[in-house]
Amino acid sequence: MTSHQFYETQKAKDINHGHDYCPFIPVFGPPAVMFERGEGTQLWSIDGKRYLDFLSGIAVVSLGHANPVIAQAIAQQAQTLVHVSNFFANTVATEAAVQLSELMRDAGAGDGQVFFCNSGAEANEAAIKLARKFGGRGRHVMVSAYGSFHGRTLGALALTGQPAKHEPFQPMPDGFKYCEFGDLASLEATLDSSVSAVMLEPIQGEGGVVPAEASYLQAVQKLCNERGILFIIDEVQTGFCRTGKWFGFEHAGVQPDAVTFAKGMGNGMPVGALWARKDVASVLQPGDHGSTYSGTALATSAVLAVISEMKRLNAPEMAVRQGAKLKVALEALPSIDHVRGSGLLLGAQLVPGIEAKDVYTAALENGLVINAVNANTIRLAPPLTVSDAEIEEAVSILAKVLA
Ligand SMILES: *Cc1c(COP(=O)(O)O)cnc(C)c1O
Repeated sequence: MTSHQFYETQKAKDINHGHDYCPFIPVFGPPAVMFERGEGTQLWSIDGKRYLDFLSGIAVVSLGHANPVIAQAIAQQAQTLVHVSNFFANTVATEAAVQLSELMRDAGAGDGQVFFCNSGAEANEAAIKLARKFGGRGRHVMVSAYGSFHGRTLGALALTGQPAKHEPFQPMPDGFKYCEFGDLASLEATLDSSVSAVMLEPIQGEGGVVPAEASYLQAVQKLCNERGILFIIDEVQTGFCRTGKWFGFEHAGVQPDAVTFAKGMGNGMPVGALWARKDVASVLQPGDHGSTYSGTALATSAVLAVISEMKRLNAPEMAVRQGAKLKVALEALPSIDHVRGSGLLLGAQLVPGIEAKDVYTAALENGLVINAVNANTIRLAPPLTVSDAEIEEAVSILAKVLA
């Protein structure tokens, strides 16, 4: 189905004021379903069909759809104060920055400071500017890994180690180099006097749910420390309890110099952040960076509610427990070769001959939302609040689809 055909369907046409063309610039390709309501792990489409959401809007809605605590926090903040600009402080963003810094201190990363933004790409753009200012002129290069994903804005796209995504937009900005993910020698070969920072994901999410070995991340940190190069971790997908710890880097026990966040931190409210250790953060001075929407009271009210709910529920523990159940059940399916990832960020590698996009389509027809993260891997990232019964239901749909 093309986007055009999708928006020709009657209900979509009603919403679309009778127009039978796609109202969006078609960067996303044709949508599969139009949803209008969610609750916890469940979604309902415009024709009333119920779905189980084992994707969570790409690892975003970690506390479930229409979570009443988050909804209440946002609604109350919307009626109190939404935005004042960064000529002024607001209590909500201040509290959120303090709490995020405390979480990072508890994770072993030391004392730091926070810049709020609106997305993962923006958080990484801030990290790129931090790295450039830190390195200074002539030492502006960032190294990232092949297969990585860091966002779609021009700088974040350049940082993304997927040459095919660069091609339509050449020439790309200067100052980005790539190494093989998980291969220390490949990284070392890129490190010359022009390099200011290395950025890695603890688990490559969009790259197919590919975890980095703890020993690799530890060796990268050591190498960066020896050469005076910043070690930056992209926690946009892995952060906020998704992998069974507050942050993915904790599994390796490393201490990054800077970290970027987004997805799970707002439960769907568009919000992201750059955290940097204090000595590193201080290279950015007034005027060096900004955003009209940096740290709005509305967006950061969602962050505060997410942090408080994740603490109350012991969300890392939930991700470990439910992730282990889901992983075991998936591995028992004959068409699944193995399962990668940790907590509730899982990639199930299909046996040869089965295409991930076919599994995605058949699962959707049977009321299960997953995603084909590459040709032969399906990604499962349900809300961390997913129940045992929902895991059983999702696995039985997959068993049926794969049979
Ligand atoms: C999704 C993602 C991004 C980009 O985030 P946006 O909010 O889509 O800009 C960056 N890095 C990683 C690891 C991601 O998974």
